[in-house]
Amino acid sequence: MLMLSQRQQIVDYGLQMIRSGLTTGSGGNLSLLSRSDDLIAVSPSGVDYHDITAADVVVVDRAGNKVDGVLKPSSELDFHLALYAARKDITAVVHTHSVYATTMACLHWELPAVHYLIAFSGDKVPLAPYATFGSKELAANIIASIGNYNAVLLANHGLVAVGSDMKKSFNVAEEIELVARIYYQAKSVGQPVIVAADEMERVVEKFGSYGQQD
Ligand code: 13P
Ligand code: ZN
Repeated sequence: MLMLSQRQQIVDYGLQMIRSGLTTGSGGNLSLLSRSDDLIAVSPSGVDYHDITAADVVVVDRAGNKVDGVLKPSSELDFHLALYAARKDITAVVHTHSVYATTMACLHWELPAVHYLIAFSGDKVPLAPYATFGSKELAANIIASIGNYNAVLLANHGLVAVGSDMKKSFNVAEEIELVARIYYQAKSVGQPVIVAADEMERVVEKFGSYGQQD
């Protein structure tokens, strides 16, 4: 099977999205770019994550033409393709409807540096203006808003996280959900103190060497 290991990762991390409470049902989607094949493995549209097998994962070329698989690819294929075209540093895209990040997105708020873990995205998480799910306009809004950040909120919709592999992209989605929850809770009882811009610069730089380097 073409891109078997990537397809299996889509299955595994789809289940992980459900287990971690980052999405429900068939909400959200995931993709992986194989640089050696120049092909993309993407979750199928509208299939419950518990039911997806590696064979159900769809393989497309960079223009979105189906190369392998029988199911319809994610309705958000356009933004996955646009992200790989715009960001040469990424090979994995995770889209969730995680509750606290989506709450911010429904308020049309960006997520500020309320906690240093925002550095998983950068010094904030920007907001992409609303457009219908699955539309080219949504893809364009995401590209215009994400810049060099590793996450972007989608107004009235959810979150997109990107990274150099699936583990990293998933981690970004998880940590940003935590920061969104903290912001929500802090705002509920008082006025959160935002980390200063120069400190966030230091933290973002320090993140480059944090943990066990590959
Ligand atoms: P798909 O099931 O088509 O990937 O759509 C889910 C979604 O989150 C749309 O934004
Ligand atoms: Zn969605």
